[in-house]
Amino acid sequence: MHPKPKKSLGQNFLVDKNIQEKIIAACNLKKTDTVVEIGPGKGEITKFLLATVKKVVAVEIDRALCERLVEQFRPYPNFTLLHADILKTSLAHYKNLKIIANIPYYISTPIITYLLQYRKQIKVIYLTMQKELAGRLVATAGTKAYGSFSCFTQFYTQPKILFPIKNTSFWPKPKVDSSFVELKILKTPRVKVKDEELFFRIIRRGFNQRRKVLTNSLATIAPIKKLQGALRGRNLSQTVRAEDLSLEDFARLAGCLSG
Ligand code: SAM
Repeated sequence: MHPKPKKSLGQNFLVDKNIQEKIIAACNLKKTDTVVEIGPGKGEITKFLLATVKKVVAVEIDRALCERLVEQFRPYPNFTLLHADILKTSLAHYKNLKIIANIPYYISTPIITYLLQYRKQIKVIYLTMQKELAGRLVATAGTKAYGSFSCFTQFYTQPKILFPIKNTSFWPKPKVDSSFVELKILKTPRVKVKDEELFFRIIRRGFNQRRKVLTNSLATIAPIKKLQGALRGRNLSQTVRAEDLSLEDFARLAGCLSG
C-alpha cells in the first residue's frame, strides 16, 4: 500500500538511497543513542536508525503512515511510534537525545523553536531543511541572510551546514533544494545575558524594521539618549542597523538598557 503524499503535511519523501546513507553517516550515531525521529514518513531513515541505535522514538502526525510504520517495524523492540504532532509532544522526560528530522518546510521554524525549549534534554539536532533557511541559520552579522532567527539559533546552538541535497532526491520533487544541517546544543548560551526576554525583544524589534537605524527601531524600548550612550559604550556608530550587530553586541546593548 502506497498512501498518496499529502501536500498539506509537507510529505516529500527522501527516495535517494545515497543521501539516506549520507545522512546516517553524518549523524555519527552510537549504539547507546536514543533518537527522536520527527516525521519518519515511510521509514526510509528509520530502518537505518533501528539497526544502529539503542532506541528510536518516531513521532508521525499522519495516521495512514503510522499504520504502515507499525507493521513495517513490528519486529524491532527498540522502536516506539507516537502518532502525534511534534509541536505538541513533550520531550521533558528524555535526556541526551539526538533528534533527526526531514521536516516539512512550512513548519521548520516553529519546530526548531519548539525543540530549543527542550535544549536541556537534547545533545544535537540534525535537520533537512530548505536551503535558504539553512543559510539564515548560519548567517553572520553584516550579511543579507542574517536575522533574528540566526541570532536565536546561534544563541543556543552551534549550527553547521553538512551538505546540500538536490530537490531531485525527494518524491514528489519540491520546488527548492535542501541542506542537511547540524545544530549542536551549546552547554551554555553563546553570550552572557542577564535579561533574555529583553535581549530577544531588542533583536526582534531591530530586525522587524531592518532598514531603520537601531536608535529609531528601538525607540519604544528605551529613551534615545540611553540608546545612543549604549552604542557609544560599545564603540558602535549611532547609525548602525540590527544587521550590523553581532550576538555579543546585542548582549551588551541589552545589558546597558536593562534596569
Ligand atoms: N522522513 C521521511 C523521509 O525522509 O522520507 C518523510 C519526510 S516528509 C518531508 C515529512 C514527514 O513529517 C511526513 O511524514 C509528515 O507526515 C510528517 N509530519 C508533518 N507534520 C508533522 C508534525 N507536526 N509532527 C510530526 N510529523 C509531521
